[in-house]
Amino acid sequence: MPLLSLTHISKSYREPGSDAAVSVLRDISLDIQAGESVAIVGPSGCGKSTLLNILGTLDSPDAGEYVFDGESIAACPVTRLAELRSEKIGFIFQLHHLMPQCTVLENVLLPTLALKSRPAAAVLRQRAESLLASVGLHDRLAWKPAQLSGGERQRVAVVRALINQPKVILADEPTGALDEKNAEALTTLLLDLQKTTGISLVMVTHHPAQAARMGRVLTMHEGSLH
Ligand code: ADP
Ligand code: MG
Repeated sequence: MPLLSLTHISKSYREPGSDAAVSVLRDISLDIQAGESVAIVGPSGCGKSTLLNILGTLDSPDAGEYVFDGESIAACPVTRLAELRSEKIGFIFQLHHLMPQCTVLENVLLPTLALKSRPAAAVLRQRAESLLASVGLHDRLAWKPAQLSGGERQRVAVVRALINQPKVILADEPTGALDEKNAEALTTLLLDLQKTTGISLVMVTHHPAQAARMGRVLTMHEGSLH
């Protein structure tokens, strides 16, 4: 059974100020297996973020079925969706969205506050420190985001996405605000983590060179996947 399974998914938005519906996703069917790495590429505005938001249960389709890890998403109450997101999905965005007033360690531990059954604080701290060490940030635990470089901030965001040991990382243009060298390093990091931990990685990217490094590359065009 695939980890993520979309069947005949469609989505449209109402055009602001009119009744016209704009079709964004058209009849998308997609299976992603546990441990797979997948790139989603395509021109700006073609629906990549909409698709990723549906995969992340942050948005819902108008039609079609989404089954995540054996659970039918349409049948889940919002409380279950919140639980499922905290336990099983790690999100990374183009901008790091770290809390400026919190230290690196505090930022990394934030998603653990939402866990229904939370491991002991010492266990979580140990996990956070070991993950931060694995991305080369062992000596930055007490630093604030403003004191870090752009590449370092994105690495903290990666660790924050991993802290609850999710089954999948959904990354929406995670290298979009980085220069080429840092973009390449971040993709290397995500792929290393995907291989060593066996989680799935779905990455939207504008960089063809980064996309080509994923196990599978899907191209979106006018709301369809090829
Ligand atoms: P991409 O990530 O590929 O750039 P998006 O998924 O963000 O594309 O957007 C796809 C299309 O849907 C765009 O035309 C965008 O304007 C439109 N869109 C996205 N979100 C909304 C919304 N909340 N309301 C109306 N239109 C939206
Ligand atoms: Mg987008």
